[in-house]
Amino acid sequence: MPKSSVTPKPLSKKPSNKSGLDKASNLVRSVIFFFLVIVLCTFMYNTLAGNTAVLETVPLSDVVARANDPEGNIKKITVAGNDLKITLKDKDYPTQKSRKDASGTLYEQGLVDFCTNLTNAQEKTACLETYPTIEYVESTDVWGTILDIAFVVLPILALILFFSYMMRQAQSMNNQNLGFGKAKVTLYGPDKKRVTFKDVAGNEAAKQDLEEIVDFLKHPKKYETLGAKIPRGVLLAGDPGTGKTLMARAVAGEANVPFFSISGSEFAEMFVGVGASRVRDLFQKAKKNAPSIIFIDEVDAVAHKRDARGGAGREDEQTLNQILVEMDGFDNETGVIVMAATNRVDMLDKALLRPGRFDRHVNVVLPERKDRLEILKVHFQGKPVAKSLNLDALAAKTAGSSGADLANIANEAAITAARLGHKEITNSDLTEAFERVAIGPERKSKVMNDHERKITAYHEAGHAIVGHVLPDSDPVHKVTIIPRGRTGGVTWFLPPEDRSYKNIYELKDILARAMGGRIAEKLVFGPEAITTGASSDLKNVAELSKEMILEEGLGKKTRNLVFPETATGYYGISTEKPYSEKTAELIDEEIKSLATEAASRAEAVLKANRKTLDLLAEKLLEKETLEEVDLAPLLKDASLPPSAKLH
Ligand code: ADP
Ligand code: MG
Ligand code: ZN
Repeated sequence: MPKSSVTPKPLSKKPSNKSGLDKASNLVRSVIFFFLVIVLCTFMYNTLAGNTAVLETVPLSDVVARANDPEGNIKKITVAGNDLKITLKDKDYPTQKSRKDASGTLYEQGLVDFCTNLTNAQEKTACLETYPTIEYVESTDVWGTILDIAFVVLPILALILFFSYMMRQAQSMNNQNLGFGKAKVTLYGPDKKRVTFKDVAGNEAAKQDLEEIVDFLKHPKKYETLGAKIPRGVLLAGDPGTGKTLMARAVAGEANVPFFSISGSEFAEMFVGVGASRVRDLFQKAKKNAPSIIFIDEVDAVAHKRDARGGAGREDEQTLNQILVEMDGFDNETGVIVMAATNRVDMLDKALLRPGRFDRHVNVVLPERKDRLEILKVHFQGKPVAKSLNLDALAAKTAGSSGADLANIANEAAITAARLGHKEITNSDLTEAFERVAIGPERKSKVMNDHERKITAYHEAGHAIVGHVLPDSDPVHKVTIIPRGRTGGVTWFLPPEDRSYKNIYELKDILARAMGGRIAEKLVFGPEAITTGASSDLKNVAELSKEMILEEGLGKKTRNLVFPETATGYYGISTEKPYSEKTAELIDEEIKSLATEAASRAEAVLKANRKTLDLLAEKLLEKETLEEVDLAPLLKDASLPPSAKLH
């Protein structure tokens, strides 16, 4: 979906894409700037040092005493305001300084009362002959005073300039993406392409919940006059790719209000403190444009539980707090609705879910078969498709797929059709796309040697026969020995309906048919010849049987007992198991017995149907891929031996 984003003007007026010249002059400016700072610092240091180390301060009484003493060694006293600078006769001694009392003149303070003050010319001459002359200079050194002030003020100014310069640099760095601390604004005005509920297929319950929000935004007065509290926060929760982001945009589109969006993951890349300021800006803009929607996508990135794993980062916490502060500041007339999306409600900080915050929850769920068909229709709309295109068949075999997966398949189908030079999208393009998305592209180019092909054929035939024969297994849909992704071959089972629950027989049949591959290899090529081709089957068996015992209470001796490996301990990371050693042994035993049972059932089935196994493997080597229709005649003689029966 096209979306228009308006990046607001950055704080500084500099254009974000600078020319080379601009960059060069920037460099010169910063060099000059740093030079200036260094000069000032040196200057400041010298001045301070000069004032304290070079000019020794002496008390005035001492100066007076020495001025009246012929041996006082004073040559000159410079007076500037209340400051005295005393130059000594002996050049080896440094200049001294002193201060006179502000209230008295020098005379009053006994300094001038010497030789100069004598009126008798004879006495004066005698005095001057006896005592050394002291020059009294009344200084009106304005520059000195200014310099004194400058020495204090300039370094501070330099520091301020320096920091503002650094900030500006940081800003312009950030400006290349977005304004510093500014939120991205996505507007859906009447002139822009709007996403509406029509673009969101399925999920009727969620849409119904959101209709209400749309109405709030369209007719806020209606609710105000009735004194109804308008919701502030709506949390969209659901698996990845179920269309949460799409849904939020559709609400804005339906209500025809501005949509201000930001993603939680963006906050992670920000400078310290920018997250909170971005939030502030986001809310400010939204309020100015009310009624409007703020959308915080992937909110779990900032709002994960603060105590989980020793606490969230301080930056996240600031961002989260700012969101909460802003939402608490809403009143009934604010007209802004905050929507947020997450895949992990359980991870969210509880503070976010309190009343007055994100207290409305809308669950966005994985689509059911008919919804999958609707979603496929949306995504095939406008694409040239063959008349025979069977979207329903695709919907049937994509149980568990999200809207995003289906959109992906639709796109892959178009790509496949284009690559193969088809004028319209055909069923084979669709199948190819589905398998490509589900497992990875076919590797036609990788040549298997004949022996490998034979092993693969028996392996897949083993899966297919065990799955076909066992009564609680889903029917076999397709078998292929064309390698795809990292697999050597694939056997597909088709779940007939979407089901949320499986019973223990179904689960045990899944285990047995997973074992079918390796058992077939063993029966045909001998126990020494088994390959690594079954490693992913065995992993699946291990995982499923562990889940059955630990989480679903399906053990023989541990029926209805579960052993959740929930983390315990203060930080939730302790590995301590909440059960005894003895229980642990029992659990291991139960898991093992599920796997051995599966293996022996598979072996019983394959031994009893060896003819079918050979036939199927042969056909696979010949045709490489067998569809449901091809499989039916090949499997018609297969039967279930009593030893593999469970009920
Ligand atoms: P989420 O935010 O839940 O992870 P998105 O909203 O980003 O999922 O969905 C990704 C894409 O998948 C959408 O852009 C859309 O093309 C497709 N999609 C998902 N759900 C639906 C749906 N219900 N109807 C139509 N398209 C969907
Ligand atoms: Mg999303
Ligand atoms: Zn296998």
